This record gives sequence, structure tokens and C-alpha cells, in this order.
Amino acid sequence: MVNSLSSLFRFLDESPTPFHVVATSVSLLEQKGFAHQKSFSDELQTKGYFIRDGAIIAWSLGAKKAPLRIIGAHTDSPNLRVQPNPNIHNAGWSQLGIEIYGGVLLNSWLDRDLGIAGRVLFTDGTSTLFADHSAIARVPQLAIHLDREVNERGVQLDKHQHTVPVWGTNAPSFQEWLSGKVNRTDIAFYDAHLFDINPATLLGVDNSLIASARLDNQLSCWSALQAITSTESEYNVIVVLNDHEEVGSESMTGAAGPMLESVVEAILNHHSVSPMEKHDLLAASWCLSADNAHAVHPNYQERHDPRHGPRVNEGAALKLNGNQRYATTSRGAAHIRNIAKAVDAPLQVFVSRNNMPCGSTIGPITSTRLGIEAIDIGAPQLSMHSARELSGAQDPDHLVSLMSGFIAR
Ligand code: ZN
Repeated sequence: MVNSLSSLFRFLDESPTPFHVVATSVSLLEQKGFAHQKSFSDELQTKGYFIRDGAIIAWSLGAKKAPLRIIGAHTDSPNLRVQPNPNIHNAGWSQLGIEIYGGVLLNSWLDRDLGIAGRVLFTDGTSTLFADHSAIARVPQLAIHLDREVNERGVQLDKHQHTVPVWGTNAPSFQEWLSGKVNRTDIAFYDAHLFDINPATLLGVDNSLIASARLDNQLSCWSALQAITSTESEYNVIVVLNDHEEVGSESMTGAAGPMLESVVEAILNHHSVSPMEKHDLLAASWCLSADNAHAVHPNYQERHDPRHGPRVNEGAALKLNGNQRYATTSRGAAHIRNIAKAVDAPLQVFVSRNNMPCGSTIGPITSTRLGIEAIDIGAPQLSMHSARELSGAQDPDHLVSLMSGFIAR
């Protein structure tokens, strides 16, 4: 397996929650000389990063008053999360009450061996991450004998009643189990997410595909970090990995929150950019918003416009939508196409069917908030929001090349 894929697989396997994406990103960045910016009252790091909960923002300062090159992606993926009062004992089973986060493809979580990971907050104000990758829990599907029409009618799940995992027959309380995990009894609160314990893997008789949880959107997070840590640039480069995209981005650590704006301000202040110069600088800046795209599904080809359907292993898809669900303008499309050509990275075009609702992502939010023109792209994949997604094995390298070209040009 090529080196880059083993690095991506490690990133995916070590990042079961947004908090872990941040920790994994920090270790990648620190290996490449990026330093933690603890406070913005301190001198701004030349290559630095700032973290807040499940979001991280990294930068590399360029020439004085040079425009910005920003790459954005999101750290969160739809999943099942353990409730604050989760302990259930039912018909001889121990169960965990859960809350559904984001647009989970629920049937894909049935009959999977699930681990639990997250963050624990202690009474003294400190916190720690935890992850147990063993098979702890499972949402068992009803047997076909008790649901005879299931294949004709489709799986029908009540979101509250039918999604409750079992995690034993005589389990301790969740809080007791968690205390054992972190070796402390002074737990004040926690975030605890269930995840599929299967590691990322190559797939296909020709090894042309990759299967993993959370490809949307950790594939983009990993690619953006590869690009910023390996590319020299005259520009002021930022990689912003926001949380909460799957639930609309409206939070402190989401794309609609202040994190990116704060770092842009800090960089402009560092370069002594005046309020009027700021307008010119932002107008000359670009944001590349990366979020996976839907590849054409061979069994459902009618769901795509035949002339605008992305295929795996043929490069990132440039996303366009006249109704502004995506931010890309024809100017942005031309800009990224020129870059793709110059660095020899394949690039496809995605436009959704007029009779299919179009998703959205962080591009339009960033554009609207900061007045920086954004371009929406994404690596094609199948099974978006499934517990286990599928994409092309060559596309991570294609995406890194495109992002590196974007940063440098
Ligand atoms: Zn996404």
C-alpha cells in the first residue's frame, strides 16, 4: 500500500470522534513544526494551530500583506451518542440510551460491533480523551422470522425505540465503566460516541477502493493537513477544520462560529494590515471548501444527471449550484480548473438534478461571513453517512495534489 494511504488509514482509525480528529491533527502538525497558539495575546506563531473542543485551525504565515489561501473541512460525522442518563435494564439485557447525531443512515448501524470513544470532564476543570476499540455494544436487528415483510417493505426503524444498543446482560452503570476507563472517580460530565470498530481497509479485487467509517469528512481533513504541512507558499495559508457541519454549522466551533474570523484578524494584525487594506486583501483571497461528493452509484444511476455525475478515482468533484447551495462561481471554477491543470490533478464537475434536493456545506457560510470567495469541492464516495463508507483509493492523492496547488498558486 502506498505510504499516503497508510497515513490516511491511521488518521481515520485514530479519530473516532471530532475530539480525536483534533488530537490526531495536532500530532501530525507538531511533527511538521507547527506550534500550539495557546493565547492570541502572545506573539503569533509563524506556523501555528489553535484548538477549541472538536475544531482546529492551523496556519502558516506568508509574505507580509499577502492574500489568504484557506482550506476548510469538517471534523464531525453522523453517529450515535451516549445520553447523560443512559443506563437501561430491559428483558435481561443491559442497554445504553443514545441520541442520534446528524443524518445517520440508521440501517447501516445495525448488527455492527461498536466501540465507545469521547471526552471526559473532571470536577477540577481538566479533561481527557478516551477510546475503547473493543466490541462493547451492538444495535441488534430484529430477526426476519419476526418481521416477515422486511425485504419487501424495507427496514423501518423508530428512531428512539429501535436504535438502542445492548452492551451486555449484567453491565455496570455507564459512569462506573467510564471511571474505570479513565482511572478517576471525579467525573463531572462526558461526551461518549459509539463507532464501528472495523479499521479502514483497501477493498476490491484490484485494491482500487477504500472502505472506512467517517470518510465524510475526515478524508478532506487529512488531505488539507497533508497540503499545509508539505507545501511552501508566499500566501498566508489557513486550514480550518470545523465541528457541527452535520447539524448545520451554527455553533461556537462550527463554520458559522467565530474561529476562522479570529485567526484571519490575528494574521492581518500581525502583518499590520489597515482596515481599508483588509478589503483588498480579502478580495484577493480564496477559500477551498472540501466535503465529500456523491459518486454515481452503479445501481441507482438515475439519481445523477448523466453529464455531471462524479466517478471514483477520477479526482475531486467541483460542486456547482446556481441556487447557492454551493459557493462556487464561474470565476472560482475557472481558478481551480487552472490550478488542477497546472498541477496535473484530475477534476470533475458535479451539478445535481433539478428534481433532487441539493446538499450544502461550509463553503457558502464562509463566503457569506468573511467575504472571501469560496470554491466547493469533494472526493467522490458511495454510502455517505453510512457507518462504513466507500471511496476511491487514488482520490486522496488527487485531492492532496489539488490542495497543494491551491495553496501555492
Ligand atoms: Zn460532509
